[in-house]
Amino acid sequence: VTSLPEMTVVFLGHVDHGKSTLIGRLLYDTGQVPADRVDFARARSAEQGRNLEFAYLLDGLEEEQEQGITIDFTQTGFTTSGRRFILADAPGHREFLKNMLSGASRAEAAVLVIDAAEGVQEQSRRHGYLLTLLGVKQLAVVVNKMDLVGWDERIFRSIAQEYQAFLASIGFAAQNVIPAAAHTGDNIAVRSARIKWYQGPTLLEQLERFQPAARKEFPLRMPVQDIYRSGKRRLLAGRVETGALTAGQTITIWPTREQTTVKSVERWPETGVTQILTGQNAALEFTDPLFAERGMVITSPDSSPSVSRAFYARVVWLGRQPLVPGQRYKLKVGFQETAAWMESLNRVIDTGSLREVPPECVPAGFIAEGLIMTDQPVIFDVFDENPAMGRFVLVDGYQITGGGVITMPAEKYQTGD
Ligand code: GDP
Repeated sequence: VTSLPEMTVVFLGHVDHGKSTLIGRLLYDTGQVPADRVDFARARSAEQGRNLEFAYLLDGLEEEQEQGITIDFTQTGFTTSGRRFILADAPGHREFLKNMLSGASRAEAAVLVIDAAEGVQEQSRRHGYLLTLLGVKQLAVVVNKMDLVGWDERIFRSIAQEYQAFLASIGFAAQNVIPAAAHTGDNIAVRSARIKWYQGPTLLEQLERFQPAARKEFPLRMPVQDIYRSGKRRLLAGRVETGALTAGQTITIWPTREQTTVKSVERWPETGVTQILTGQNAALEFTDPLFAERGMVITSPDSSPSVSRAFYARVVWLGRQPLVPGQRYKLKVGFQETAAWMESLNRVIDTGSLREVPPECVPAGFIAEGLIMTDQPVIFDVFDENPAMGRFVLVDGYQITGGGVITMPAEKYQTGD
């Protein structure tokens, strides 16, 4: 509970390259771990005949957090003088994708970890690709476990060059590549005395260099999450994703396009609220008894979202079976749900190797570009302009098996007035 500005940084990388150890070390060296937590991790490490395993510092914290709120991937808080960081350890890219595309979390920066002894792996490239797809624009790369390669500068340079070249090929760049060892704490929170040939920032300094993502100005969008009664009043609840909303203003509700006036706004537990800002949850009462249901979207009258049964998208597929055109899935955009299918595929890319394959189906881990069609019209904005209304997940049964971002409305399918 703090009023410091918050920033979410996600840690990615091939399994075992050291994400958890890195986060544990960062928390430990900056004195963010309570003593009993350290004792607990030390005892667990000792049972296995090891010195302190920094990753175990997180296990304790996870358990503690799980009692409070449901979290889909490990999140640990971390405070510096000016900022509160949420460090998210994405155990697999499935969790990360699910969270980012469903809107459950939003990372403003990323740290990608590469094991110095193993070098760039397919997964390292897949994760880099995902970050660009998801619109995460700030990245730092940590070449970890430098102790395993004798702190060798040439090995570091060659990994750094290989990965930066890969990023450049997808139009992305890392702000810094940091040689480090989470195990020994070199260049994590403390500057390494062994890596004298590196003058760039430590990981901690790099975190402080990340900028909070500037929120683009965008007109009002408030997806309706719930409708409930309070006495005789009927309230629509949701989160103002973009723009702002004031009591007394006129709004349009989609897809019906009915207009009405906001009679009052509420933001529990505050009282006397008249304005709701971007990112705030609120309940609204209208002057007219218009039709409303979960999944509808409230906008300002002068700004229309797209409403269409088709749109072009970039899709990441995770399903066991390849995605094939025509196969039906459930599509979720915010609180909207409808059946959807891939109508046509333009391009299918293996993100691990950047190879293109014939656009016939989309195997797991591949990214596709193509046209998606839906049973019901979907209310959306293009992802680049408004991420909150431009991302979706695809559900097969109860499992999220894919998702993506909307790149363009398909004009000829647009619902007319
Ligand atoms: P994750 O799967 O990416 O979260 O990886 P972990 O943090 O669990 O680390 C995987 C293994 O690498 C563990 O056995 C760590 O002790 C080890 N490890 C992590 N960082 C370093 C390092 O800097 N040097 C060495 N030698 N081992 C490390």
